[in-house]
Amino acid sequence: MKEIILPNAHFSYRDGSLYCEEVSLVELANRYGTPLYVYSKASLLEAFGRFQVALGNYPHIICYAVKANSNIALLQLLARCDCGFDVVSGGELLRVHKAGGDMNKVTFSGVGKTEEEMRLALSLGIRSFNIESKPEMKRLARVAASLRMVAPISIRINPDVDAHTHPYISTGLKQNKFGVDPATAISLYREASQAPWLNPVGIDCHIGSQLTDPAPYYESCDKVLNLLDLLRVDGIELSHIDFGGGIGVRYRDEQTIDLNELVDTLHQKLRARGYENLEMIFEPGRSLIAAAGALLTRIQYIKHTPNKSFLIADASMAEMIRPALYEAWMPILPVEIHEDLPEHVYDIVGPVCESSDWLGKQRALRVKNDDLLVMTMAGAYGMSMASRYNSRLLSAEILVDGFQTHMIRSRDRYENLWENESLLSKIDEPDS
Ligand SMILES: *Cc1c(COP(=O)(O)O)cnc(C)c1O
Repeated sequence: MKEIILPNAHFSYRDGSLYCEEVSLVELANRYGTPLYVYSKASLLEAFGRFQVALGNYPHIICYAVKANSNIALLQLLARCDCGFDVVSGGELLRVHKAGGDMNKVTFSGVGKTEEEMRLALSLGIRSFNIESKPEMKRLARVAASLRMVAPISIRINPDVDAHTHPYISTGLKQNKFGVDPATAISLYREASQAPWLNPVGIDCHIGSQLTDPAPYYESCDKVLNLLDLLRVDGIELSHIDFGGGIGVRYRDEQTIDLNELVDTLHQKLRARGYENLEMIFEPGRSLIAAAGALLTRIQYIKHTPNKSFLIADASMAEMIRPALYEAWMPILPVEIHEDLPEHVYDIVGPVCESSDWLGKQRALRVKNDDLLVMTMAGAYGMSMASRYNSRLLSAEILVDGFQTHMIRSRDRYENLWENESLLSKIDEPDS
């Protein structure tokens, strides 16, 4: 039998049947139905622990990137560990608030913050607005003045480095919409340092996602430090440097970044230029939550065509869009191992009416109808990107903690599909 690679020790086969911690996935599927997202609490806490260890005694904040998975119970687990959060919308900010997150450890990223979102973040007292353009900074200054509150800001630098990742998840190239070029950043810092309602507290960059090589971090760190030198000449001193997120995970056979080496090398760079007292901020999303999550799905049909065989599963691009969106390769495993069945090569697809609705291609599996499959490494950018396309019901989510399970999101009911919609009372009468 081929070696089956599991994300970590929190997912294991016992007598040929897959468990998450001490709970059988077969039992979870029978109890809660499929498609179903299942998360291992221990896996999440372990990933967070690795960051804490790597950052050790350096002054730091770990700001979990909420967009990777925004379930409030998962946020709550992280908040209890004193984790901070990076948000990109008012909705994410309120989720963090709801989950008991420390507002003083929240950074607010994103190129399109609205006035309403700015007011909300100011009133909640976040750590920093990550500013992505001059008009955004001007708007924030106006909003802060109107509330008579000082807005702490960090300018997001676009360092123009190639993160060597998929173009859709690359953000630090000069053709991307993110951040500002170094020359513009200098002028923004000068302006902000004179503005009564803005307080420059940090500098940040985020160059992309699923990076497997640390070199682009080092390159962008050097560029940011050059900028800090120029700011120092102007008498502008900051208190934090934010390296963003983007640390890659192992979906298939990727050799990814060694966190200890990454953090130590970056801190060495800070030390070499006299910035060792700056608080280091990281905004990891994927690397904290990807391995903790699994998507359970049941095979509905096995369809043989002259060219190909398909496994038609009850999960689709609506539950997990990464394959459709980035042609991402995700691990797909049988929940129960049947050594006696013949091995076939299948494309694993969902019921959605799109040819891009696939979960995996050309996978050799020993399965039969009604079997359960599991997509591992599905905790990041799975549920948070889920949609109701084709009027599908959003999945339930289960958190496993040892022998215990908690339903942290119930499955949509059909009424949820149209609860915010209304029928016209009289077809020819518009709202007055
Ligand atoms: C998406 C994003 C992150 C998280 O990226 P991961 O690859 O999930 O670690 C962090 N910071 C910003 C600004 C982002 O847009």
